[in-house]
Amino acid sequence: MKRNAVDILASYVDALRSIIYITHFDFKVIDDIIAHVGKNVKCVEFNNALGVVDFGTKNAMHECGLEQFLRLTMDSGFEQETYLILKDIHNELSDPKIIALLKRIAENNMYLENYNETIFILSEITVIPRELENYITVFDIPLPTSEEISTIIKGFITELDIVAESEMMGELALSFKGLNEFQIRQILNLAYQDGGCIDEDDRLLVLKEKEQFIKKSGMLEIVSFDETIEDIGGLEVLKEWLIKKAKIFANLDRAIKFGVDIPKGIMIIGMPGCGKSLTAKATASLFHIPLVRLDIGRLLGKYVGESEGNMRRALKLAEAISPCVLWIDEIEKAFAGIGGDGGGNDVTTRLFGQFLTWMQEKENTVFIVATANDVSVIPPEFLRKGRFDELFFVDLPNEDERKRILEIHLKKRNKWNRNIDSIALIKETDGFNGADLEAVVKETIEMAFINGKEEITTADLIEVTKDTKSISKTLQDKIDKIKRTIDKMDIKVASRKI
Ligand code: ADP
Repeated sequence: MKRNAVDILASYVDALRSIIYITHFDFKVIDDIIAHVGKNVKCVEFNNALGVVDFGTKNAMHECGLEQFLRLTMDSGFEQETYLILKDIHNELSDPKIIALLKRIAENNMYLENYNETIFILSEITVIPRELENYITVFDIPLPTSEEISTIIKGFITELDIVAESEMMGELALSFKGLNEFQIRQILNLAYQDGGCIDEDDRLLVLKEKEQFIKKSGMLEIVSFDETIEDIGGLEVLKEWLIKKAKIFANLDRAIKFGVDIPKGIMIIGMPGCGKSLTAKATASLFHIPLVRLDIGRLLGKYVGESEGNMRRALKLAEAISPCVLWIDEIEKAFAGIGGDGGGNDVTTRLFGQFLTWMQEKENTVFIVATANDVSVIPPEFLRKGRFDELFFVDLPNEDERKRILEIHLKKRNKWNRNIDSIALIKETDGFNGADLEAVVKETIEMAFINGKEEITTADLIEVTKDTKSISKTLQDKIDKIKRTIDKMDIKVASRKI
């Protein structure tokens, strides 16, 4: 039994919070906590499928609907202190009648003496109707701390008399962070059955298991990738910054104990096709942690309060898989127009505020990589110092970078040879972005194959280059706009000056 969970919940009840909403998948765990908090309290359970249920035995007692159930004691309350425990009623929370009934009970609980009725809502899905916001307190079961996780692991090891290296204990405990006790025990069991011991390699197992949780949730997407930091041509300043932070992420436990602040994340702003997404992937590979994508559009739900609930769950999930890179692609699309002259609506404004608070307070090992093309629509609060560790601007590649990008893509396809004249190519590719350069390489190689050639030449590449419409030509207006916005900002340039 989690002691602190019982204490926190007890303090909510003592403070006369009328409706306590608990989002959790394991109702047995919650029942135990509620039973501990209310040792001498009467518990009446309502289950959406069965009606009134005996809280102790779980036997169905009286079939009825939620409305009928709530009306029974709505105005009279109970003589003895009583908890009404409502399970899986989230779908009913869009019904104005149910909302009104719950509100009335909540008010009675606050203002009537001897009313003695506290409501608990248990569900896997958080739905908080706007009208009940002031009455509902959301209770999150605190997840085990690093020390508690170490205790769980130690307990497991002693129980089964397993050999374990003590140095790796801290790192292993950290990799378990974000999971609940049940999940941790499940993974430990798996690890033990797998190799008969608990060691460093089990961190990989933890990671795989965490990926499973993410997949099942459907809120976030695990992105698989092959790219490494060597696949990025140029952007030296950005790469050096990341390489430094990788030292922290590779030794998180030691770094935290040493007193190092955990990096929060970066925002990469700039031209399309210049390596922003590539950098998100390379970061995860460099840090040796999974890459998880958050699509804010996917969080939007049809019920009032559902989107905010989804956002909370998604961020919690990211914490559960952490350490991880949380990648938010084209963030300007999600949060466009907030606080400005239109575009943003109520829900996105609230989601934005929620995300900002989370970022501000975050003390976890989720490293955010937010990418954006057009920052003119992003609310300025987002870009203020202290949210991200650093903002980077990715410009169209300079001469040296173009040379490197061409080389990378030719080498990737085993078509690099010393006779290729980089200087001539640099001249021909002014205004090209990374994606354009990659396209030139692909096209040239394809032509060479079709024409039965073994090797490709500078002339082949130049020929394709001349036929390629670079981004600077196709998106001139957009590029000028990005440049104008960037000029006014305090932002680090990702490339080294030449
Ligand atoms: P965006 O900046 O729009 O996120 P991407 O990172 O998705 O662009 O780039 C698209 C593709 O272009 C990449 O997958 C990569 O193959 C190529 N590319 C872009 N920039 C670079 C770069 N700096 N070095 C190597 N390849 C690059």
